[in-house]
Amino acid sequence: MDEILSAIVDGAESDDFRALPIPESYRGAVLLAEETGMFEGVPSDRKDPAKALHLQDVPTPEPGPGEALVAVMASAVNYNTVWSAIFEPVPTFAFLRRYGKASEEGRRHDLPYHVLGSDLAGVVLRTGVGVSGWKPGDRVVAHCLSAGLNSADGHDDTMLDPEQRIWGFETNFGGLAQLALVRANQLMPKPRHLSWEEAASSGLVNSTAYRQLVSRNGARMKQGDNVLVWGAGGGLGSYAVQLVHNGGGIPICVVSNAHKAELVRSMGAELVIDRAAEEFTFWRDERTPDPKERKRFGERIRELTGGEDADIVLEHPGRETFDVSVFVARRGGTIVTCASTSGYEHQYDNRYLWMSLKRIIGSHFANYREAWEANRLICKGMVHPTLSKAYPLDGVGEAVTSVRRNEHYGKVGVLCLAPEDGMGVEDEEFRARHVEAINRFRTPDPLTA
Ligand code: NAP
Repeated sequence: MDEILSAIVDGAESDDFRALPIPESYRGAVLLAEETGMFEGVPSDRKDPAKALHLQDVPTPEPGPGEALVAVMASAVNYNTVWSAIFEPVPTFAFLRRYGKASEEGRRHDLPYHVLGSDLAGVVLRTGVGVSGWKPGDRVVAHCLSAGLNSADGHDDTMLDPEQRIWGFETNFGGLAQLALVRANQLMPKPRHLSWEEAASSGLVNSTAYRQLVSRNGARMKQGDNVLVWGAGGGLGSYAVQLVHNGGGIPICVVSNAHKAELVRSMGAELVIDRAAEEFTFWRDERTPDPKERKRFGERIRELTGGEDADIVLEHPGRETFDVSVFVARRGGTIVTCASTSGYEHQYDNRYLWMSLKRIIGSHFANYREAWEANRLICKGMVHPTLSKAYPLDGVGEAVTSVRRNEHYGKVGVLCLAPEDGMGVEDEEFRARHVEAINRFRTPDPLTA
């Protein structure tokens, strides 16, 4: 690995990378199939992802047709790594087994270990047969949609491919490791003004928020739209706020503490609800939503907006908030959901949906085009990474646990081959032009600042 790292740091040419020997094994953050029962009987909120994650040497896979092997300088923690490492709702080995049964190519992924991670910034080391757009030495980020496109179904929108998988969650050889195996059609140019860990932090959440809000597959946000953003100081939310601003919309940001409120205000948001400080409790008990609380929340939105409701609600907390989201969307408005962090069996009052002609849109990650457009906004300095802290690879357990406990801000990064923060910036001049915004959005984690 030392030779690979030196070549990257020295800015070696493509031929130099071609000549480099590929190590037979590499270090990665893995789950072990033999441990999937380790949390049996433990309540969900007591499951500690750090116990299930191991740093382990694993054999290096060969890139097959259409694939690329990438040296990973940095990666990021996504919530799918939390789910994976607490084996909820199902152990990810079930996905790998299914992939193994689906095709010859999938068989390589069905292993007794699972290398996790759905984001990366790094350098291409090898490409497989049939890859023409990328070559060894290219500095890249990877989006997490793995799709073979062998069925007609996926050719209008890649997310509809029946064999679509989230890389590093439903496939093996993910980004929380020194090397990663991706399809070449996951690769995108690394934003040249960003460090490795900044570049690695945005991909999954930025693309997801882009599809939810901007794309024709999502809510098709327009100028002036009021957009309610749950978790505006978290991963998805901190990019949603930026996309809403860019598109001429008005974000209404929900957060749960004063620091996150400050963070979203520093991003330019003016309408902020601190759900903890304002003591919103949307449920009377586990089964009964509180109509008075959802009404109070709707009134709070009107108070902030001068009497208007939310045109779009960016939903992801799920069970605890979905009833409120349906209620507060304006007549004819849209609730666009991509997740259910607090529980996937939603309960809501359907009268507020049909009588007021609202729509619920299910959304999942993004197709290549959407991910490319979202990455382009980063490359152009129109969306900035919201990284609050980068952990070393051997601190990955701690990093994932901080996200599990909702103690983090914005994104949490992981340095893989990069020995320290701040390396990898290629375009210093462009960075200097945007440095004020870059620093503002990279609000330090108050726990460690
Ligand atoms: P994150 O960084 O943990 O942020 C989530 C935010 O949601 C938190 O900061 C928290 O903010 C808020 N939140 C958590 N529980 C809540 C509750 N019960 N009620 C209200 N707000 C709550 O996670 P993320 O990366 O943004 O991801 C969020 C969810 O989206 C995860 O479940 C993830 O798996 C999912 N996701 C899905 C896709 C997809 O492609 N389908 C892609 C990305 C993410 P406050 O405490 O400050 O309110």
